[in-house]
Amino acid sequence: MSARDAVALEPVIGLEVHVQLRTARKLFCGDSTRFGAEPNTNVCPLCLGLPGALPVVNGEAVELAVRAALGFGCEIHETSIFARKNYFYPDLPKGYQISQFDRPLATNGVFEIQGEDGPATIRIRRIHLEEDAGKSVHDRFDSATAVDLNRAGVPLVEIVSEPDLKTPADARVYLLGLKRLLEYLDISDCNMEEGSLRVDANVSVRPVGTDALNTKTELKNLNTFSGVEKALNREIVRQMEVVRAGGTVAHMTLLWDAARGEVRPMRAKEESHDYRYFPEPDLPPLVVTDALVESVRAELPEFPEARRTRFIEAYGLPAYDAEVLTASRPVADFYEAVALLLPDPKVAANWVMGPVLQEANERGVTLAHFPVSPEGLAELVKLVENGTVSGSIGKKVLAKMIESGQRAPQIVAAEGLAQVSDVDRLEVWVLEAIEENAEEAERYREGEKKLVGFFMGQVMRKSGGKADPKRVGTLLAEWAAGK
Ligand code: ADP
Ligand code: MG
Repeated sequence: MSARDAVALEPVIGLEVHVQLRTARKLFCGDSTRFGAEPNTNVCPLCLGLPGALPVVNGEAVELAVRAALGFGCEIHETSIFARKNYFYPDLPKGYQISQFDRPLATNGVFEIQGEDGPATIRIRRIHLEEDAGKSVHDRFDSATAVDLNRAGVPLVEIVSEPDLKTPADARVYLLGLKRLLEYLDISDCNMEEGSLRVDANVSVRPVGTDALNTKTELKNLNTFSGVEKALNREIVRQMEVVRAGGTVAHMTLLWDAARGEVRPMRAKEESHDYRYFPEPDLPPLVVTDALVESVRAELPEFPEARRTRFIEAYGLPAYDAEVLTASRPVADFYEAVALLLPDPKVAANWVMGPVLQEANERGVTLAHFPVSPEGLAELVKLVENGTVSGSIGKKVLAKMIESGQRAPQIVAAEGLAQVSDVDRLEVWVLEAIEENAEEAERYREGEKKLVGFFMGQVMRKSGGKADPKRVGTLLAEWAAGK
């Protein structure tokens, strides 16, 4: 074994996250930002790069960017400068992207995560405003690539971390937390399928115990957080092999191929001087006054941590429930809407944490798009709480509500699912169960109490789950006592 083999290596990770701000209009013109419009319909001379068209900054986008900067505890600079980032690409008709370079909107933030080794503080290097580019579309025509400029000029913030992340798993935790915060603060819809949140991951390796920042590579095309984690794992293994073999890591941009689980070189990494940044001559410096910052601060929505505490205090929820129910904003919103419609917030919590999240996960939807409304769920829960249907039937009704779009009372009535409490009908099932299982019945009567569960099961099966378990219990006890 050579000396080199003995050196333990560790990864160093820094993330650049592009987030689309949820404005109705683009960053420098009045075009709509709506996703899914016919290609090249949300465009104007400015997005098309026609000479003479001048940009005007969208104040709402600036406020959302300030909100993001406050969310990550950044210093916000009163004056920041838009800059041209020059490069050639078919989806960039102007030949440059308007971004911010050496004087960004905000710097020096922090973000806390629960990492693999406990709590960790990830420093945020900067948050700046920039416009998005258009999109090359490769799957519309057989032999040609098309360009859709609807996205050109859509407002983004780029959130750049310091290289403080220690593992791919921590990178994923960071991204989940970042997305959660952006959703809570209503800055972005963070819809990754629609490209509202995109991640570039930078990674290098170094000997454990040093602070070296060695040459890094940058991974692109990361469409999911688990993809980020997997791609980083692959790339770290690759870099460690290079270093252990005595080589050096080349400064490169790599593409993640999720289908193959591989990273592929895309290009030699460009340096910032390659972009020939210079201040945007068509825009004045961006001025964010203290008054603006304070008005944005005064209207900040509730942070995830505050909401968790409030769920514990206002609804009397256990800490665990509050944690699960605030894990994402859609879940918290859904829960809270249900809780306000029901007398017992804990009952609401059990339904949302149990059957609702289970159905949502199985169907791959978030609670923002759950097919049953909070009102619809509350109506169902009331039927269970007042004994009209049993809990297990209630869960089946929920599934049917999702499939049919019908309301709970309709389904219960149409399918005859109401719980049977009528003693005459229950007695028939109980006596049948006893006759069919004479041996168990004998043992039960002689005092083997636990057989009550067996008979309960028999009666439930006969009744299709509709027998009122309390009354069945009473009937069984009476029979055993010889009444
Ligand atoms: P570039 O100019 O290549 O974009 P930056 O210095 O601007 O590089 O950093 C971009 C991102 O890369 C940041 O998130 C930063 O934390 C991360 N980063 C910088 N150096 C390293 C390194 N040696 N290893 C891992 N990540 C790094
Ligand atoms: Mg970069």
